Amino acid sequence: LDVHRILVVEDEPAIADNIRYALETEGFEVAWCATGEEALRVYHDNGAHLIVLDVGLPDRNGFELCKDIRKTSAVPIIFLTARTDEIDRVVGLEIGGDDYLAKPFSPRELAARVRAVLRRAPGAEPGAVPAPGDTPLIIDKQKAKVWYFGKPLDLSRYEFRILDVLAQRPGWVYSREKLMELVWDAPDSSMDRTVDAHVKNIRAKLRAIRPEIDPIHTHRGLGYSLKESW
Ligand code: CA
Repeated sequence: LDVHRILVVEDEPAIADNIRYALETEGFEVAWCATGEEALRVYHDNGAHLIVLDVGLPDRNGFELCKDIRKTSAVPIIFLTARTDEIDRVVGLEIGGDDYLAKPFSPRELAARVRAVLRRAPGAEPGAVPAPGDTPLIIDKQKAKVWYFGKPLDLSRYEFRILDVLAQRPGWVYSREKLMELVWDAPDSSMDRTVDAHVKNIRAKLRAIRPEIDPIHTHRGLGYSLKESW
């Protein structure tokens, strides 16, 4: 049984409740987050087949959140907008959303849109949908697969986990110790250089696809990060 998981990011509980009810009635599994940061965390931890994303969130703008998500994922996104100038942006600019609904909307209409967008999404995989050429790095956690500039990367288990950790927070510097803690099942301080060896392997595999680009930044004495733009 393939239940579609929908992540609803909406700060107004009454609206979120209505959405949840409508989606669950249609057989979807619903996770609800009230802030952008929480949504990023939940999405990266659990994945989702589709995200319903309110533009006006208390901590950050839904458009910015979408841009962050698009760095590593092509998951379908439906925007909820409250203002007509926001609608202009959704429709007129390439924000990276798949559809939008203006508030107030009928929850049943939203459920219908969710179904329609999921039908269009190729494969509709949880976590991430491979979209060759769309975003440079796509990570499908459930299948443990990575696409880089539309090409599949053949990574070992630890290489995959390291890249996945770095990609969750582009720009964040992860020390070797932190990477070991997050990636290895039984961390051991003698493995410092193992992290380096794995990063070296990841780089070689990325270079094989795009020799001119190195998306991983080495912070001397500190650790590694995935560059925010490349
Ligand atoms: Ca709102």
